[in-house]
Amino acid sequence: MATDQFQSPDYFLVDDLLTDEQKLIRETVRSYVKKEISPIIEDFAQRAEFPEQIVPQLGDLGCFGPTIPAEYGGGGLDYISYGLMMQELERGDSGVRSTASVQGSLVMFPIHAYGSEEQKQKYLPKLASGEWLGCFGLTEPDHGSNPAGMITNIKDAGDDVVLNGAKLWISNAPFAQVAVVWAKDEAGDVRGLIVERGMEGFTTPTTHGKWSLRASATGELVFDNVRVPKENILPGVKGLKGPLSCLTKARYGIAWGALGAAMDCYDTALRYSKEREQFGKPIGAFQLQQKKLAEMITEITKGQLLNWRLGVLMNEGRATPQQVSMAKRNSCDVATNIARQARQMLGGMGITGEYSIMRHMMNLESVITYEGTHDIHLLITGMDVTGINAFG
Ligand code: FAD
Repeated sequence: MATDQFQSPDYFLVDDLLTDEQKLIRETVRSYVKKEISPIIEDFAQRAEFPEQIVPQLGDLGCFGPTIPAEYGGGGLDYISYGLMMQELERGDSGVRSTASVQGSLVMFPIHAYGSEEQKQKYLPKLASGEWLGCFGLTEPDHGSNPAGMITNIKDAGDDVVLNGAKLWISNAPFAQVAVVWAKDEAGDVRGLIVERGMEGFTTPTTHGKWSLRASATGELVFDNVRVPKENILPGVKGLKGPLSCLTKARYGIAWGALGAAMDCYDTALRYSKEREQFGKPIGAFQLQQKKLAEMITEITKGQLLNWRLGVLMNEGRATPQQVSMAKRNSCDVATNIARQARQMLGGMGITGEYSIMRHMMNLESVITYEGTHDIHLLITGMDVTGINAFG
């Protein structure tokens, strides 16, 4: 892969809206990506292997649970800093950002928000440092967009509960020591449980054959009469609002992350358009190519402003899940379109691993699907503005 020459686009001087601390955090993660991710990621993606070494690295960098308080090993940072971290990680690769999103928003967040003090002490510092990797099990083979239909269940067994069922499409699963799993109890309430690798009857088969997020490990969680101590149940939440609140946090990170991938595609195409000559001119001199670039930077700029404003609302505790849905959907849409246009601008070179665009393009097909599909986020916005549920 060519050397990482990334220069971040900032057409509307959005940097002026950031604090010095936020800029420093972004710079730190950007340098890390240039040094540790860009040189290796294409190779891992081609081989469909998870670069395990990034787990402690991301921990050291503070990318796991950056908004979790420092007393539990988190960074105690604000939401714009968190967003910028996800933007920079996904600028490198959506799979790397997925690892951090799952760990921070889907595993550490529910333990922090709904866990007992003992659970927080036991799990959060190890997850924050990257000593342990976590995963989040909500999706099932027959229940994706509609998690309310889940059939994974727990039954009372004295000091334990007995867990049965299966989860599919679970990021980090094959390498995770800890899984936050959502299952129905005998009353039909959704409960969160912390399931540890090594518990009898718990396996995590790897999902093979993905053309997308190839450098992220995906797997199943299979529970065959797994005895989970009751002390591993998250005491602070019952019902779907548990997993949905986690998804809101992760979707917020995706809104920033997907735009990072878009920025990388734009920056690569812009540079290429000035270097590549056809018909005696750089291809950037042709109006058709300028149209593509002009539309890309317009959409990136709109997305940057939307994300920044959403970050402010998150910091003030005023952001709604529906606003997060809109931003997630917008960034994924913008990024998938930009990746496709950028890839075409590179002609034949665009389909090779010499450049990052094709990898981003394929990764973004997962990003636009997970954590609520493009359609589902549209329905969320539709319901919010009309007050009418069009899901069922
Ligand atoms: P379905 O729900 O079957 O949807 C199929 C199609 O129908 C979609 O186009 C959808 O938009 C459409 N559709 C569904 N309902 C409606 C409706 N009411 N109206 C109109 N259209 C509708 N899940 C986890 O729990 N943890 C993870 O870590 C995780 N990681 C993932 C990693 C990857 C690489 C992928 C691909 C997925 C991951 N997922 C994870 C699962 C992901 O969240 C689901 O794939 C997603 O929610 C969609 O569910 P589904 O695949 O079952 O599609």
